[in-house]
Amino acid sequence: MFRLLKGFGVTFNYFRKKKITIQYPDEQVVMPERFRGIHRFFPDKCIVCNLCVTACPTDVITLTGKKSEENPKKKIIDTYNIDFQGCILCDFCTEVCPTDAIVMTARYDNLSSFNRSEHFKDIEWLTNNHVYGYYEESDPVPEMGERGERK
Ligand code: SF4
Ligand code: SF4
Repeated sequence: MFRLLKGFGVTFNYFRKKKITIQYPDEQVVMPERFRGIHRFFPDKCIVCNLCVTACPTDVITLTGKKSEENPKKKIIDTYNIDFQGCILCDFCTEVCPTDAIVMTARYDNLSSFNRSEHFKDIEWLTNNHVYGYYEESDPVPEMGERGERK
């Protein structure tokens, strides 16, 4: 009997403690600032230097640039893709980028899919990849659903 009461006591104590579980996906875990999540791309900052492509150990970044119409000496980004089938979220591409055109975000759950080809993300997807609050808050974020998914 004593052991039974002791067991109830332990359970009762847990009732009173602050809950550490959350109602995912309705609630999202707030990741720490240095978390290496799914990338976001800022086309206006990219100088088409190719450093990210060279640094990527799994060769999953592809890009093309074109001459700027305003300044023919300058190149602007035309296409930028990451194939997340092979990305190991190592952070090398963002570390070498001299202009912070490619950054890692706090996102971790927006690559779930039943189709592998959907892991190939283009410039539009990467540009619109939403972040949870802490990174580049001043940057315009496109319209997203409550949980951060693109509408
Ligand atoms: S995080 Fe690593 S593997 Fe992924 S695209 Fe960047 S360099 Fe490549
Ligand atoms: S994303 Fe950064 S490293 Fe990659 S080409 Fe653009 S400026 Fe260079």
